[in-house]
Amino acid sequence: MNVFVLNCGSSSVKFQIINTDLDMFENDSDHRVAKGLIERVGKDDAIIRLEAEGQEAVKAVEPIHDHREAILRIKKWMEDPNTKIQGIHSWDDIQAIGHRVVHGGEKFTKSVKIDKDVLSEIEECSDLAPLHNPANLKGIQACYEIFGDKILQVAVFDTAFHSTMPEEAYMYAIPLEYYEKYKVRRYGFHGTSHRYVAYRYRKLVKIPREEVNVITLHLGNGCSAAAIQKGKSINTTMGLTPLEGLVMGTRSGDIDPAIIEYLFNKGIGSVAEIFNILNKKSGLMGVSGISNDMRDLEKAAAEGHHRAQLALKIFALRVKKYIGAYMAEMNGVNAIIFTAGIGENSVLIRKMVCEGLENLGLELDDELNKQAVGGKCLKISKEGSRVAVWVIPTNEELLLARDTVRVVKDAPRRW
Ligand code: ADP
Repeated sequence: MNVFVLNCGSSSVKFQIINTDLDMFENDSDHRVAKGLIERVGKDDAIIRLEAEGQEAVKAVEPIHDHREAILRIKKWMEDPNTKIQGIHSWDDIQAIGHRVVHGGEKFTKSVKIDKDVLSEIEECSDLAPLHNPANLKGIQACYEIFGDKILQVAVFDTAFHSTMPEEAYMYAIPLEYYEKYKVRRYGFHGTSHRYVAYRYRKLVKIPREEVNVITLHLGNGCSAAAIQKGKSINTTMGLTPLEGLVMGTRSGDIDPAIIEYLFNKGIGSVAEIFNILNKKSGLMGVSGISNDMRDLEKAAAEGHHRAQLALKIFALRVKKYIGAYMAEMNGVNAIIFTAGIGENSVLIRKMVCEGLENLGLELDDELNKQAVGGKCLKISKEGSRVAVWVIPTNEELLLARDTVRVVKDAPRRW
């Protein structure tokens, strides 16, 4: 089955075409046949990059006014005789579309076939993710406009994997009526990534799902950790919104909420402006003052830049704090798994995070740590370390494609 996997942001459309099916999951023989990205959607100079497996990428700058035009542009490219995508000549060769949807609220605990009711329920969740869900919806609506009911569409939610958290983990200690009236609670995000790497770990060490007790660390531009017990998420660092938890590229992560009123009283700006600072000007960027990119900070820190060094230390300490918290919550774990841009590539951050956890049973192998870069999947702890440390590259799109197939075929989800 060819699945068109779509990830729509407010001004971007990212896609992959993945050839996959139930029997292909078993032997991992599914594969991506095309991918692409259109940025600056809504502008006259949108940046287009489309790439069929094994072929030179098509790059262009053209006006793309909305998500519908972006998808039509991809369709045009797919149907161009010069484009050679394995097994695909036109849209008729696509059997389903899988959409990434950021917020599924309490309603969606797993991936679902999209119909009118599902659409309006996703719309209701927009209140909880005003930056993300409206963009995801635009993608779904554009596909409806272009393809009608001809192609089945499936929604895969970032929040769904964390729906197994117990209430003591997802409730905030604020008056309960705010949960009852407004659904103020922790939801968690990056669920597809946490679920994928925990699943890969299970395959790698060949254990049943019930024996998977791990901490997954998704460290990219956005960062979150998840406590996974018996294969289920029981806690995660992001909350009502992705602002809570770990330090990120430009987000503060956990802070004392009183800081907001304090800064407001100091005349820094409106509450909305202060939130903008916490979301877009804090984290690695805010502390270092030079960049939100870990590569820049590692370089600057090595050259003695104090604020870059501090940013790295705050970042690593926060991750370490949650490793400790989740180890306590789960009474120990089998493994810690690093993933996403920083997790898969930063030898230094992995070392800083793991250093000093030997008494908790975690011993990093420096040589193996150095080898785990550029998308390698590797165990990087010493032989005999009570807690294993793994680097496992994430692949959210593959999970999206596989979930889409499962939903379309009504097959049970085994993970
Ligand atoms: P997103 O959350 O947007 O998917 P990624 O998972 O691609 O982000 O992670 C992006 C981050 O990964 C970059 O900001 C950068 O800090 C970090 N990164 C990528 N490559 C390296 C590297 N070689 N060394 C250190 N950090 C890296």
